[in-house]
Amino acid sequence: MNDRTSDGDRAAQNWRPATRLIRGGTHRSPHGETSEALFMTSGYVYDSPEAAEARFKGEETGFIYSRYANPTVAMFEERMALLEGAEAGRATASGMAAVNAALLSQVRAGDHVVASRALFGSCLYIVEDLLPRFGVETTLVDGTDLDQWRRAVRPETVAAFIETPSNPMLEIIDIPAVAEIVHSVGARLVVDNVFATPMLQRPLALGADVVVYSATKHIDGQGRALGGIILASEEFCETHLKSFLRHTGPAISPFNAWLMLKGLETLDLRVARHCQNAARVAAFLKGHKGVARVLYAGDPDHPQADLAARQMSAGGTMVAIEVTGGKAGAFAFLDRLGLIDISNNLGDAKSLVTHPATTTHQRLTPEERARLGISDGLVRLSVGLEDAEDLIEDLDQALGG
Ligand SMILES: *Cc1c(COP(=O)(O)O)cnc(C)c1O
Repeated sequence: MNDRTSDGDRAAQNWRPATRLIRGGTHRSPHGETSEALFMTSGYVYDSPEAAEARFKGEETGFIYSRYANPTVAMFEERMALLEGAEAGRATASGMAAVNAALLSQVRAGDHVVASRALFGSCLYIVEDLLPRFGVETTLVDGTDLDQWRRAVRPETVAAFIETPSNPMLEIIDIPAVAEIVHSVGARLVVDNVFATPMLQRPLALGADVVVYSATKHIDGQGRALGGIILASEEFCETHLKSFLRHTGPAISPFNAWLMLKGLETLDLRVARHCQNAARVAAFLKGHKGVARVLYAGDPDHPQADLAARQMSAGGTMVAIEVTGGKAGAFAFLDRLGLIDISNNLGDAKSLVTHPATTTHQRLTPEERARLGISDGLVRLSVGLEDAEDLIEDLDQALGG
C-alpha cells in the first residue's frame, strides 16, 4: 500500500464533494492500478514472528485480519468520512449492523435512549425490543414535537436516534434543535441519514454526533449489495466502536466495499437525477384524481417545507402517495404498474413501489400505524433513474388515466 502522505491528506480536505466521491481515500498498490484494488483476503502474512508480535501489540501499523480492517474496506471508510466531513468511519455488513453497533456500542444497563417513533421497522426493533432486554430504558417520541424531546431527556440519557426524512411518511425532524436538547444532558445524537443521502443533508454540520447509512440504498444505488457505515469522531470510533466491531464481527465483505466505492463515484450524478425525477413525479401526482394526497419533502406544500428547505439541499428521492380506495385501491394500483417494480428496497436506479401497511410496517398494530399516518392506501415510491416521462405514463395508466 502506498500510504497517503500528509500533503495528500491536506489536499483531500480541500476537495469539493464531487472530487471526494471519486478520489477520496484511494490508496494505490505498487501496481499503480487506476481503479481501486479489491483486496479479497481474510488475513495478512508477517515477515517474522517478531513482526506479528509487534502488530498485535500495536507497535507497528498494518492489517491483521479482515474482521478488524481490510485495505479495500479502509478506502470506502476514508472516502465516506471525507464526504461526510467526519473524522472517521467504520463500515459494516449492512445498514442494520451499522445502526446496531452505533447504539449498542455506547450503552450499558441503566442508561436511557430516546428515539423518534417514526423509524424503519428493524431500527424500531433495536430501540423498542432489544435495548430494554439489556436494561437500557427507551422512550419513543413524536420526533417533530420538540416539547416531547425536552420532556424525554434526563441525566441517564446517553443517546438519541432519529431518521429524517422518516420512512415512509417523509416527516422532517429539526436536527439542530434536537441536537441542542440532546446535548443539554450530555447525550449524543445519532442520525440515520439514508433517506436524505450524504449529498442532500449533512447531519454532523447540523449538530449530530454520529451518522449511519444503509449503503445498500443510494450508495450502492444499483441493487447489488448490502452494506452500512457509521461516521463519527475519531474518539467515538476508538472508544466505542473499535472493540465492539472487532469482537462481534459485523464486517463488510471487501467485495461489497469495493462495489460501494464504485457506487460513490456516481452518487452525486445519480442523486441529482433521482431528485429531478422525484420532483416531476410528485408534481404530476399532486393533481391526479386517483390520488388523495402526495408527500414529497421538496414540495412547497409539504407540512414542513420550510424546515426541509433549511436542512436539505433538495427534496430527495422518495415520494409517499395516498391512493383512493384503501388497501384494495393500493393493491389495484400496484398490480397495474407495468414499468415500476413492487419491491421493499429503495434508492435503486430502478423505480420501486412498496405498500408499507402490509410489508415494511406490517409488524405494527393498526393503532400504531394510524398514529404514524400509515394508512391502507399509502404507497411509498422510490423514484429511480428512468426517464421521468416513462414513469409518469406508467403511474398515470396505473391510476386509471
Ligand atoms: C434500509 C434501511 C436500513 C437498514 O439497512 P440494511 O442495509 O437493509 O440493513 C436502516 N434505516 C433505513 C432508513 C433504511 O431505509
